[in-house]
Amino acid sequence: MRIGVLALQGDFAAHAARLSRLGAEPVEVRYARQLKEVEGLVLPGGESTTNLILLESEGLWDALQRFARTRPVLGTCAGAILLARKVSNPSQPSLGAVDITIERNAYGRQVDSSIRWVDPEPEFAARTATGPLEAVFIRAPIIRATGPDVDVLLRDGADPILVEQGPHLAATFHAELTGDTRLHELFLEKVRSNRAAGGDC
Ligand code: GLN
Repeated sequence: MRIGVLALQGDFAAHAARLSRLGAEPVEVRYARQLKEVEGLVLPGGESTTNLILLESEGLWDALQRFARTRPVLGTCAGAILLARKVSNPSQPSLGAVDITIERNAYGRQVDSSIRWVDPEPEFAARTATGPLEAVFIRAPIIRATGPDVDVLLRDGADPILVEQGPHLAATFHAELTGDTRLHELFLEKVRSNRAAGGDC
């Protein structure tokens, strides 16, 4: 199963390594035409503003928007910011594929980055495995509001940190930096169901 990892900026290599470890074939995506060859796409963490500039200059923005209409996208941290419907602090364009309002750098500066253990919501545990999950937050955003079609799969206190809408997943933490493979496994499962449901690829 070929899975794209947007490779313009940020920690795309860690996602690619995780995907191959799970038996998928990662494709580093730098050009719009490459999106035709993959069944799902990971938008990695990094700096969302830089990614936006690069996406526009490479002509990838429209292609990404079309991709997200039919195929699954996993966005982590800056990637979740790109997927959101609305971005604040400051506001910036986003794909609008997941109906969330997200606030950038909401925990503060780099020194306020942290690693925390969270207890999965029952639905996440049922679809993956039980047990606490290590979540790495690096200048992370906070999801401030979720629309009616959004399910929250993980929370840190009251804040949603992993949400799902249709084929897409958005996480505010870096799941690719720990040994816990559950998020990527869940994503690959969603790519398989999208294929089975006749998702265009
Ligand atoms: N602070 C970054 C942003 O707002 C996201 C950080 C990350 O992806 N780790 O784009």
